[in-house]
Amino acid sequence: MTAVSASQYDVIILGAGAAGLMCAATAGYRGRRVLVLDHANKPGKKILMSGGGRCNFTNLNSTPANFLSDNPHYCISALKRYTPQDFLELVDRHGIEHEEKAPGQLFCKDSAKDILNMLLTECEWAGAEVRMKTAVDRITETDSGYRLRVGSGDLTCESLVIATGGLSIPTMGATAFGYRVAEQFGLDILPTRAGLVPFTLQPELKDQLAPLSGVSCPVDVQCHDQHFREPRATARQRLPWGVWIHASSPPKPWRCWRSQTCISSVRWWT
Ligand SMILES: Cc1cc2nc3c(=O)[nH]c(=O)nc-3n(C[C@H](O)[C@H](O)[C@H](O)COP(=O)(O)OP(=O)(O)OC[C@H]3O[C@@H](n4cnc5c(N)ncnc54)[C@H](O)[C@@H]3O)c2cc1C
Repeated sequence: MTAVSASQYDVIILGAGAAGLMCAATAGYRGRRVLVLDHANKPGKKILMSGGGRCNFTNLNSTPANFLSDNPHYCISALKRYTPQDFLELVDRHGIEHEEKAPGQLFCKDSAKDILNMLLTECEWAGAEVRMKTAVDRITETDSGYRLRVGSGDLTCESLVIATGGLSIPTMGATAFGYRVAEQFGLDILPTRAGLVPFTLQPELKDQLAPLSGVSCPVDVQCHDQHFREPRATARQRLPWGVWIHASSPPKPWRCWRSQTCISSVRWWT
């Protein structure tokens, strides 16, 4: 039997966000020796701010058609192998109370912290180690995997997972690290663009929407020829939340000047 050094792992995952923690628990349950590294002081900061602090953790009605991508087939196999129902079962196993807002849209009843604690508990149960405040200075490929230079020395692993997230909200720890690693290993990178972009509302539309604050009603937002509907949207700060998120993320053809989204019409029924 060969001895395993303290700096040698089967899997190292960079990024202790939603993706990295889920990956760590899954790999740990498969019997791999797992380490998660993150340069921030605390894990899962974006989870804590998600869903207005209550994390919209799944949508029971989501299908591949809900995912905007240049390659619409990309998400099909992942969604088939791990369904919204699977995640709901995990949430239920941890006794997390939740509620359905719009049909199928599930939020924590109490706090997004419950979801973060659930993922950290799963990592612990699976034997995955999570190490914060640790930056990786260099990654090199070896015959058997990868070598990572961190402040305290070198770490090695067979499989390396980059889960350092997107570019949004650098104050939450976001960096372009993942893109730089992809470049280092010769992967093609598509140009990035903001997903949730500002709206420009004409004064007339703004005045019409103002009285809707706090009201729940069906809404239809039109962006050029694309309609985004929500059967029961609640307007906060004058804008019905979910439907605007969808309308602000259309793929290229509807993108307008300076990443802004032009809204052609908004209809609602009370
Ligand atoms: C305001 C807001 C509300 C949202 N609401 C919802 C919601 O209700 N439901 C939902 O499903 N999604 C929601 N999202 C989106 C969701 O939060 C993200 O899609 C998700 O958290 C992304 O997870 P991730 O693990 O890919 O990345 P992140 O959460 O960004 O995690 C990446 C991790 O990598 C670390 N990292 C970055 N660079 C380095 C580096 N160089 N070295 C080491 N570590 C590094 C970061 O510190 C971070 O911990 C919301 C997002 C925002 C901004």
